[in-house]
Order: sequence, then structure tokens, then C-alpha cells
Amino acid sequence: MAVPKELRDELLQAIRSDLLPFYLQLGCPCAFPRFRSLVEFYHENFQAGPVGCYETELLINECFRQGRACYRPVNSVKADDPRKMYECSVCSSRYVENYQDYSIVFYVSFMQTVADRAIKAGADVAEPFPLPMGLYWLDQSDADVFRSYFQQSSVADFMRYMKETRHA
Ligand SMILES: [Zn+2]
Repeated sequence: MAVPKELRDELLQAIRSDLLPFYLQLGCPCAFPRFRSLVEFYHENFQAGPVGCYETELLINECFRQGRACYRPVNSVKADDPRKMYECSVCSSRYVENYQDYSIVFYVSFMQTVADRAIKAGADVAEPFPLPMGLYWLDQSDADVFRSYFQQSSVADFMRYMKETRHA
């Protein structure tokens, strides 16, 4: 799992200084279906084998684990469930964090909505979904499943797409 450090830094900077402040000014990221679909991205929902997405990992890390958005950890689903649960401090939507590893160097994370209380403000997902870093996979045939769904893009294109509102 490796992408050019410069690209990762550029994207991280754009997320921290532009995307998250934009979302928080309008409410919360939960209101944006494109954000939701990225943090909820899980290959099995597409009937594909192990495929990860760098943007998914980056956003989950920034927004949930590092707490740079509006998500705060709350008591987990059940006492014996090791998964972490987060609540949005703006709209009270709740998410459970899932993590699956296939090897020491290959893992995927994804959020699962357990309570959706957001009022939609962002535009719906439109294909292809522009991604600056994109996907990683074990078998090419699994990556092929997403050929028309995702498209390699610039950070600027990704930002425009992620910030599009419902009535833009
Ligand atoms: Zn929210």
C-alpha cells in the first residue's frame, strides 16, 4: 500500500483546510452522500474480492479516528463488540467502524451507518467517482469490477466533486 507522498500530502492538506471546514460550515459531512459513500466503501457490497480505497482510509482516519471533523467516540454497539462506534455531534447520526485485514500490508476499513439522522445537503453520487489516489487490490479481476465506477483524477477535481451541493 504505497502512493506518492506528495500526492497524499496534497490531498490531506485539501481535506483539512478546505473540505472539512466546508462541510462543517454547512452542517456536517453526513449530509453529503459522496462523503458517506466513500467512508462506507466496502468491496463486498459490490460482489468483489478484497479491494481497498486510499481516500476511504484517509477520510476515516482524519474524520473519525483523529477526530478532525465532528465525530466523537461513544459506547460500542454491545459490551462484547470490539468495534468502535462514533456519533456526529451535529446531527447525531451514528457509525460503526469496521476493519478487515488480509495480510500485514493489506487491510480495509469502512464505516457502517447504524443511525442516519442527517438531512441531505450534498449531491448524489455520480459515476465515475473521481479519486486522486484511488484503489489498491490483490487480484486485478477484483479491481476490474470498479473500472467504470471510479476514475483517476486531480485533487482539484476530487474537491469540486465532494463539495457539490444538492441544488448546485
Ligand atoms: Zn452528522
